[in-house]
Amino acid sequence: MYTLNNKKILIAGARGMVGSALARTLTDQGKGELLLPNRQQLDLADPITVTHWMKEHRPDVVFLAAAKVGGIAANSNFPVDFLLDNLAIEINLIKAAYELGVEKLIFLGSSCIYPKHAEQPIKETSLLTGALEPTNEWYAIAKIAGIKLCQAYRTQYGCDFISAMPCNLFGKNDNFDLETSHVLPALMRKFHDAKTNKADKVWVWGSGTPLREFLYVDELANALVFVAENYSELEHINIGAEKEISIKELAELIAQIVGFKGEICFDSSKPDGTLRKMMDCSKLSKLGWRPQLSLQAAISETYKWYCDNHAE
Ligand code: GDP
Repeated sequence: MYTLNNKKILIAGARGMVGSALARTLTDQGKGELLLPNRQQLDLADPITVTHWMKEHRPDVVFLAAAKVGGIAANSNFPVDFLLDNLAIEINLIKAAYELGVEKLIFLGSSCIYPKHAEQPIKETSLLTGALEPTNEWYAIAKIAGIKLCQAYRTQYGCDFISAMPCNLFGKNDNFDLETSHVLPALMRKFHDAKTNKADKVWVWGSGTPLREFLYVDELANALVFVAENYSELEHINIGAEKEISIKELAELIAQIVGFKGEICFDSSKPDGTLRKMMDCSKLSKLGWRPQLSLQAAISETYKWYCDNHAE
């Protein structure tokens, strides 16, 4: 439907986990000319800077992968940052994309946009049918506003702006800070440190029973290129792994990959968050995209990257 070949492509958030995976994938596939500004070159929170930068560089395509992101603790502790930073980034870039005649914009959100008690697996049509999970509603509200802004530009001005909602992600360039990270990188680091320090116990937050769906960021990047070229509709589209796993099983899998042989304990004073958020990805699979890599293989690749880049 649309080709990224020979296009000028801006990846907003190019240094982040999703943006850097997109840059690798687009480079590997030989797609277009990439514009990869860092935060000093393009401060997305500043509307004047964004408009000037867009006027100067005139991208044909924008992947909006920049966001203030974080795990269950960060979301609860920094509600203003999660709401305000994400709204500012979306408004500035989506508005400038319209004004500068961007041909295609792909806005990224996450599965936390859906109601806490949405019917599972969660279809795209569940959006705004119920109350959100309180531990990440700040981020979710900002992302819902971003989806609606893309829809508004499509409806009012005919812009080809689409939104993609991935499940929980992990991979190279993830955040491994224990206070602000998501569960998968946090557990990888905890097990690695415990192995290195010969500790006999690792504490996992919550009860271990919540179910989550994890997609490797390189697979997401591949899916995003696919939707950019093959999807052009008002409604957002889910991108998931099509498999779920409990936090307990995830902990056991990571411990095995890392080589930690001690005890795995559960800290019930920490929140579980939503108990299940499995997405229905039939819309995407009908278009012809499905994930390829097993969770085990993807976690092993990520752990290798972690050891080469972070671990002491
Ligand atoms: P969520 O999917 O938005 O809830 O984000 P997280 O990745 O932060 O948390 C997913 C689940 O993993 C929650 O039930 C957490 O309580 C649980 N979890 C277990 N250990 C950890 C940890 O060390 N860090 C984080 N962030 N979550 C953990």
